[in-house]
Amino acid sequence: MTPVDEAQQASTDQASLLTEMSVQLAEMDAKLKDFDAKMAKREATLLEREELVARQQIIDREHNERVLREAATVAGRARAQAELLASMSAQLNSLNAKAVEPTNHLLSLPVELRAQIYRFLLGERWQYIGGVRTRGKGDRPTSWRIHDGRSPLALTCKIIRRELLDVFYAETEFYLGLRQTPEYTQSLLNGWETSMGKHASSVRLVEFDRVLKPWSDRPHPYEPGWYLKDQKYRVKAKLTAQGDIDIKCTLTSVVWTRPRQDHDDLVEQYCECHLRRFLQVSTAQGVDGRRLIGLARACMKEGCSEVTGAICEDCKLPTVDITAASVVDIDDSE
Ligand SMILES: [Zn+2]
Repeated sequence: MTPVDEAQQASTDQASLLTEMSVQLAEMDAKLKDFDAKMAKREATLLEREELVARQQIIDREHNERVLREAATVAGRARAQAELLASMSAQLNSLNAKAVEPTNHLLSLPVELRAQIYRFLLGERWQYIGGVRTRGKGDRPTSWRIHDGRSPLALTCKIIRRELLDVFYAETEFYLGLRQTPEYTQSLLNGWETSMGKHASSVRLVEFDRVLKPWSDRPHPYEPGWYLKDQKYRVKAKLTAQGDIDIKCTLTSVVWTRPRQDHDDLVEQYCECHLRRFLQVSTAQGVDGRRLIGLARACMKEGCSEVTGAICEDCKLPTVDITAASVVDIDDSE
């Protein structure tokens, strides 16, 4: 071969080599492109997947949040129901307690209010202590009674009973019907004191009178058409909280317009000195209602009976002559 040929040959070889290389390059380039495309596709897939994951995460988070919210709501409702139940249970317990152990509302009131209720229940507190004397039964009361205000409330409990009876005996004015013989009145006083028992010491107000002159329809000396009924020596005795006894002694003349019809009382103050002297010498002291009963007893024993017109040297008031005792005996049963 000639050098030209050789050169040509070489050139041709080079060209074919170049062509081959360029083909190979093109192939490689194509492969690279293909790889790039695959990579791109893969990347896209990855991105897509990441997006999906992210979206799923958002969905999951939202779901979780909703679930948590719902759980919180349910928990709140449960708590509210538990509180309501607890409150209802407490109310039920309180109701049950009330049903099982009834509280005494009266005793839960202040003692002053209770006393007011007792006063209201007892009503008028003026008690006549006397008897009906029947002919032929001697000098003893055949029947008499004491109403000590035993209202049904007094039967409910011991405390209320004691309080109610305390109010009754301390605030009732006892009027003793002592119009009979001394024996009869002493018997009456004994019966009254016995029936009261320990309550006798609670008595604070006693009133009694003694008929001095049973004129019984004697014509009035100055007023035509008027008649004199009788003349009473009346004692009101009140024991104070300090243990003093206030005495009010009066002389009451009962004057009738006509026999057994409308009447009028002429009242004048009377000497109380002898009663005060009795209280001074009386050994009983203190706030004890029995002293009032003792006073009535002493007064009846002495049988105050005659108005002489004498004036007491100490108080300058008219007095009764207890020495001129002539027992008055009037039959109430008429
Ligand atoms: Zn006097």
